[in-house]
Amino acid sequence: MSATRVQSGNARISRIWKVLQVPQLIDAFERKFYYLRLSITDVCNFRCTYCLPDGYKPSGSPKTFLSLDEIRRVSRAFAELGTEKVRLTGGEPSLRRDFTEIIAAVRENPAIRTLAVTTNGYRLARDVASWRDAGLTAINVSVDSLDARQFHAITGQDKFRQVMEGIDAAFTAGYSKVKVNAVLMRDVNHQQLGSFLNWIKDRPIQLRFIELMETGDGSDLFRKHHVSGEVIRLQLEQQGWQRQVRGRSDGPAQVFSHPDYQGEIGLIMPYEKDFCASCNRLRVSAIGNLHLCLFGEQGITLRDLLADDGQLEQLKMRIQSGLQTKKQTHFLHQGNSGLTQNLSFIGG
Ligand code: SAM
Ligand code: SF4
Repeated sequence: MSATRVQSGNARISRIWKVLQVPQLIDAFERKFYYLRLSITDVCNFRCTYCLPDGYKPSGSPKTFLSLDEIRRVSRAFAELGTEKVRLTGGEPSLRRDFTEIIAAVRENPAIRTLAVTTNGYRLARDVASWRDAGLTAINVSVDSLDARQFHAITGQDKFRQVMEGIDAAFTAGYSKVKVNAVLMRDVNHQQLGSFLNWIKDRPIQLRFIELMETGDGSDLFRKHHVSGEVIRLQLEQQGWQRQVRGRSDGPAQVFSHPDYQGEIGLIMPYEKDFCASCNRLRVSAIGNLHLCLFGEQGITLRDLLADDGQLEQLKMRIQSGLQTKKQTHFLHQGNSGLTQNLSFIGG
């Protein structure tokens, strides 16, 4: 075979390889990123003690949150870079009037197989069926207590029944499983494992305890109420709960199951050694900044590249090059919560 034919054959193989290769976001520490958490508003109608104890207050000059078209473009860029899962978060994402259209816009990308929302549950009962029709595949609802009065005290809203009806409505709408987030707090709910376990015995709910994280606004609360998820893990192990294997686009939870329970328990322990080694997620804030970590950086602006479909390639390049500056770990252990005043602006 002539040298020219071999060379042109090699060039063809390399072209085919490039087409077949699924693009992938990989950082300098060989971590792969399949999961985007996209915040679509900072606004919230709840006043959770650990997040927005004084309620949402716009800070600085008025901000406009990403428009539907900007959301469409940013999700397309991530989809073309190998993202398989997107979570819509906030503030309270369901407060956006165009929330159903946002769901449909993100699902225009066939690569995004999982589209989830994290919500306080306020609009679930009313809207969950239309979210499902628009393409929402998974739901996380925040419920820190199963006691209506305590729920009110934590969230500032007397909406426990409404949120519970919302979870029922999600099952009626066809979701086979719902995830529920509870922020673990000493002397608030850390001794309530028993009632949470009763609740999930015959319900396909994955109840996830999230360790309270220290934020710029929440240092006092953190000192008073932080407790390690280890207290829950020990009880689960004693009661025969088994840890499950983690999938590549799964979130950070350690998930436990038990043959006698339909539900599962998840533990999210950001202070545990090696938590960052399994990091597979990136974040975009409601004003279009790419955040490489939940904590400790300003974010890389993407918004100037979200104005027009023709900027897609530049946008992808900025995301990829920004990722190369991602650090190996957060610095929460040293009490450094960086610039994150509270988690409502970046979505937890
Ligand atoms: N408003 C929605 C909700 O509450 O589900 C979505 C946004 S909220 C910021 C996302 C998640 O972050 C919620 O599950 C919330 O409980 C959690 N979160 C907020 N502040 C936190 C903190 N300081 N420590 C741990 N989790 C926190
Ligand atoms: Fe709102 Fe969610 Fe923060 Fe609670 S945790 S104040 S519901 S953004």
